[in-house]
Amino acid sequence: MSSAKPAVLIDHDELSARITALAHEIRQDFPTGQLHFVCVLKGAFLFLGDLIRAMDGHVTIDFMACSSYGAGTSSSGEVRLSKDLDSGLEGRDVIIVEDIVDTGLTLHYLQEILQARGPRTLRTACLLSKPSRRKIAITVDYIGFTIEDKFVVGYGLDYAEQYRNLPYIGVLE
Ligand code: 5GP
Repeated sequence: MSSAKPAVLIDHDELSARITALAHEIRQDFPTGQLHFVCVLKGAFLFLGDLIRAMDGHVTIDFMACSSYGAGTSSSGEVRLSKDLDSGLEGRDVIIVEDIVDTGLTLHYLQEILQARGPRTLRTACLLSKPSRRKIAITVDYIGFTIEDKFVVGYGLDYAEQYRNLPYIGVLE
C-alpha cells in the first residue's frame, strides 16, 4: 500500500452541500410518510449517515452487502449477496443507497432482487457515478456527483479495506 495521501477530488464541504441537497430532493419527492433506506455495505455507510441526518420526517434503515470486487480495482463482473436485509420491503417506499455505480452490474442485480420483494416504490441514490464505465443500462434516480473513470477512495470507499476513513473523496496516484 502506498503511503501517499490520495489527492482530493471532492472535498468534505462539497460532499456535505451536495448530500444535503439530495436529502431535500428525495424528501420533496416523498413529502409524507416513511422512507426506508437500504444501505449497501460497506462503502455507502457514511453517505447513508449524512443523507438521513439531512432529512426531515420518518426514516427507517436496513443494511445489505454484496461483492463484485476482490481486493483489487477491477470488477470480476460477478455479484454475490453476502448479507441480506433484516426486514421485508412489501408496501414500503424504498431507497437503495449505494456508494458508486461503475459498470452498473451490482446495482442492476440489487434493483432486480429488491423489486421482487414488492416495495411500493423503489428508487436508487448513488453518491458517485462513472457513466463511461457502464456495461448495462440502469436507472439511478439520485446522483451526487458524476466523475471520470478514476479509481476513487475515501468517505466510505476503500482500496483493499483501506482509506474508508478519509473525510473526502480522493484519487490514488
Ligand atoms: P459496479 O458493479 O457498478 O461495476 O461496481 C459497483 C461497486 O464497485 C461499488 O459499489 C464499489 O464497491 C466498487 N467500485 C467501483 N468503482 C470504484 C471506485 O472507483 N472506487 C472504489 N473504492 N470502489 C469502486
